[in-house]
Amino acid sequence: MTAQAETQPFQAEVQELLDLMIHSLYTHQEIFLRELISNASDALDKLRVEALTNSELLGSDEKLTISLELDADSGCLSILDNGIGMDRDDLVQGLGTIASSGTRRFLEELKERGADDAPELIGQFGVGFYASFMVADKVIVETSRENDGAGWRWTSSADGSYTIEEVAGLERGTRVELHLKEDGPREEYLHEHKLRELVRRYSDFVEHPIMLGDDQLNSQKPIWIRPKSEVTSEEHAEFYRHLTHDFQEPLETIHFQVEGALEYTALLYIPRTKPMDLFSEKQHRSRLSLYVRRVQIAEECEDLLPPWLRFVRGVVEASDLPLNVSREVMQTNPHVRAIRSRLVKKIISTLETMLEKNREDYEVFWASFGAVIKEGICAGDNEDNRLSKICLFRSTHGDDWTTLQEYQDRAPKEQDALWTITGGGRAALAASPHLETFRAKGFEVLYFDEPVDEWLLDALGEVEGQPFKSVHSADSSLQSEADEKVLEKQSETFKELFEKLAEHFGDEVESVCLTSRLTGSAALLTSAAGAPRPHMERMLREMHGAAPPTARILELGANHPLVVQLGELFAANPGDPAVLDTADLLYGQALIAEGGVPVNPARFNELLCKLMLEGAPTKD
Ligand code: ADP
Repeated sequence: MTAQAETQPFQAEVQELLDLMIHSLYTHQEIFLRELISNASDALDKLRVEALTNSELLGSDEKLTISLELDADSGCLSILDNGIGMDRDDLVQGLGTIASSGTRRFLEELKERGADDAPELIGQFGVGFYASFMVADKVIVETSRENDGAGWRWTSSADGSYTIEEVAGLERGTRVELHLKEDGPREEYLHEHKLRELVRRYSDFVEHPIMLGDDQLNSQKPIWIRPKSEVTSEEHAEFYRHLTHDFQEPLETIHFQVEGALEYTALLYIPRTKPMDLFSEKQHRSRLSLYVRRVQIAEECEDLLPPWLRFVRGVVEASDLPLNVSREVMQTNPHVRAIRSRLVKKIISTLETMLEKNREDYEVFWASFGAVIKEGICAGDNEDNRLSKICLFRSTHGDDWTTLQEYQDRAPKEQDALWTITGGGRAALAASPHLETFRAKGFEVLYFDEPVDEWLLDALGEVEGQPFKSVHSADSSLQSEADEKVLEKQSETFKELFEKLAEHFGDEVESVCLTSRLTGSAALLTSAAGAPRPHMERMLREMHGAAPPTARILELGANHPLVVQLGELFAANPGDPAVLDTADLLYGQALIAEGGVPVNPARFNELLCKLMLEGAPTKD
């Protein structure tokens, strides 16, 4: 006996999507078939995986297939699979709410760009099962997780709700029955030749046979084993989409076959945009699929590429690996290692070529994945500086990206180091007093403004015999010997004052001195050579809790009127409280300029208020 049918409303977002499918989209309708075949193929994959541990699931002579059925009389097209099937919860979750991240992104993108762009977007995105309603005014899904057991029928006309009822006697798998709309789709899709054409175009590489009667419509031939020259960019785009669920085309495709003692084929894609989980803990592993003689051994094999190439997607098929490789074997297997090293080289050389020949694409790549390449340098994989040579940076030279080579080519002869400024926020860095002397000298400074850059700076070593240096270090003043002589003389009169100040600042400030490097600001802080840079220190403190700060050197602009005034104040009356007040303000300013905060913000604000009141113009 059939139980009572139950009616359930769609989640609001789903209905929104459905309305769009029904009322606004007349182009790209044909992708509904690709989406339903892809769901069927996923369901077959899931069954195959479950059958590995539950042999009863799949009869020994049972073949996993996708079938299409046409019924001209009723105007129905059905897509069937003998895959995993759905239970009631799966149905409610899968077909009543927005489960897939692709669909959610589609909706977000649509909200951003407006409904006018929907036809274009829909071709790029997968919108999954709901694409059915572009061509059908009623859809019936019958599904079961076991043969002859309890099954479910889901029915909807996309009018705000769907019904679910229990039905008996279904086979394991899913049947999606589309009642094609009369105004177009019915004429268009009820023809064998049309279905044949669509399967060829969108689903040829699907691993399971797609049958129409006794005819198999897809070649099932994986695109990676076909000769490189025969695979079109459309086929790559389709396969890439199938593999990654990314809605864009890949930025770059790398396809090669290796013959000889160790035979394998690799088909790798470099995406255009960064996936949301690129920096999540979970996704810190590389993720190529590994096949051995047509059998998928691992969907995401983390041993084929180092973690810093985790953005690369694709497939490797080898002929000489054992079929039942365990994780441990995989890690130490010499073949796997040889493949890995070759893949890494190939990817780097592809990026080198892209940088050289197609700067625009390379900059797109860099904006998405530069931070991950830098991880590779920090991980010690920067052999022959090949990775540092493909790094791009922003610099004080302008708004464009620059390579280290371009930076060095522009540098004046007397410059003997690659100068960097580290910290967060390029605008703040650009205004740093540390840059004043570099601007005056015409030395360009590289902005190291990503979190990873602090580590990068220590990992980079030398390029063409030149070391990287930080503008925060004490030896960055670029002062000439003559300058230093003058300073030394000037400093004599400040000696006593500076000793008093060093004592006043305690452990935080190692010493106070004069500098001629400042052209506008009154004060800055530097660190002794080898001491942690301030931004690095702040990050370490955030990560590991309190750490004693390294003592800094407070440098005061020798010719700045405030500094001159401070000297005079002290000379007139060393005990004048205004001396320490001014010094505290200068020290606070120097901290703020490098992205820090005054040691005692309350006192800093109080002093500032006092000063403002004293200096404020009165009404009359
Ligand atoms: P996506 O496939 O991107 O997750 P869909 O809207 O196409 O999004 O499908 C939603 C969910 O419904 C799927 O994740 C899957 O769990 C389930 N589903 C759809 N079609 C089938 C099918 N033929 N067999 C089993 N489950 C299916």
